[in-house]
Amino acid sequence: MSTSVLPTYDEVISRYEPVIGLETHVELGTATKMFCGCPTVFGAEPNTQVCPVCLGLPGSLPVANKAAIEATIRIGLALNCTIATWCRFARKNYFYPDMPKNFQISQYDEPLCTDGYLDVEVNGETVRIGIERVHLEEDTGKTLHVGGATGRIHGATESLVDYNRAGIPLVEIVTKPVPGIGALAPEVAKAYVAELRDVIRTLGVSDVRMEQGSMRCDVNTSLNKPGEEWGTRTETKNVNSLRSVERAVRSEMLRQASVLDAGGTITQETRHFHEDTGDTTSGRSKETATDYRYFPEPDLAPLAPDAEWVARLKAALPELPRVHRARLRAEWNLSELDMQSILNAGAVELIERTVAAGASPEAARKWWLGELSRRANAEGVELESVGATPAQVAQLQTLVDGGKLTDKLARQVLEGVLAGEGDPEAIMAARGLEVVSDTGALTAAIDEAIAANPDVAEKIRGGNQAAAGVLIGAVMKTTKGQADAKTVRELVLARLAG
Ligand SMILES: [Zn+2]
Repeated sequence: MSTSVLPTYDEVISRYEPVIGLETHVELGTATKMFCGCPTVFGAEPNTQVCPVCLGLPGSLPVANKAAIEATIRIGLALNCTIATWCRFARKNYFYPDMPKNFQISQYDEPLCTDGYLDVEVNGETVRIGIERVHLEEDTGKTLHVGGATGRIHGATESLVDYNRAGIPLVEIVTKPVPGIGALAPEVAKAYVAELRDVIRTLGVSDVRMEQGSMRCDVNTSLNKPGEEWGTRTETKNVNSLRSVERAVRSEMLRQASVLDAGGTITQETRHFHEDTGDTTSGRSKETATDYRYFPEPDLAPLAPDAEWVARLKAALPELPRVHRARLRAEWNLSELDMQSILNAGAVELIERTVAAGASPEAARKWWLGELSRRANAEGVELESVGATPAQVAQLQTLVDGGKLTDKLARQVLEGVLAGEGDPEAIMAARGLEVVSDTGALTAAIDEAIAANPDVAEKIRGGNQAAAGVLIGAVMKTTKGQADAKTVRELVLARLAG
């Protein structure tokens, strides 16, 4: 579908209302797979973590993993869902080389958890995202296309299949459609995925690493004219970073608007998001549920979670991110707005860990929202991947507090940290960046400055303290900026007093 000129985002919002929906897959961090005892370690040699069950060999029978069911129920409870008292697995029938059984064991019309919600904060507003369902299924294997330039099937000479991932428990979390958020749609989508990731991380049931694929997101987007029915939606598959979630919604809104503006119609289809351009391109037309010939899985007993067990799991839920943030906000003595900017920057946990490593909340916030956020934005990476650890930031601040580094020198040391040169103390020593605090050296530099500027010295002696700036500048120059300006000022004034 060719589109000529894209409208601006403001134009799209003035003519259309977006509706979004998100389907998120989370690989559970259980020790073994969903229906067999194979291990689930990431990065193992291909096809070393397989058995007759996850290879779909004839005569093998699945047995459900209780730890995975428990983890799914805990996710459902954290998302305020109703937990089914009785439900079944279902077979989803389709052929794909990385799915050796020719069907995936999933859940269809009887999901384990239904009808919940997750509150997210965007621009100081709370948006309640309805949760349609949370269900449990098994992951597929992985196909590697080799011999081509792009790693895609086109141009590849061979395709290899690794079944290590086949059968790893996968939780799918599906939102209800989210209308009424207008221009905020891309931010709401991102905030939802970030909050969901934090909830699941807090529960400790998955490492939720988007870049490794243990959390994957499909983003549904549609546009309609105000007052009209919701438009046809497209589904952008496997969006693998928070930033990409936001970009995928925005770019799909722009593309759909240009199609609709030209009098065209939107095709219901899956689309692929391209990290490099931020665009989506057409995938396949979307299957409907009837294409999959779902039926209840005959090889597994129904699930009937005991009410008392569910109540126990609910009572034992940890403090969830929203509550946790409210507590931190009080402890750190911040306004709602300050906390929101920390949240937007993805810095809550980083600041918390920096404080735990000994920095004050103010200092931790200053580094992560200032220098480090700027750097992360410039490089287009998440803050947590910027290259400095909370412990290093805390150490840097300790050096500033102890008078060994000025703010300016600290920024240079941070450059070294980000360049992978090691911890702040080591970099300070290696680069010779310590503040010149040796009073002997400073006094010599001050005497030199006074000798070179006798008229200025005379003014200061006469009570004009503002003139000290010239001498301070001269001393800073001699010490290559490695003296603390405040100390220099005090020493100059003391030298010329009376
Ligand atoms: Zn297995």
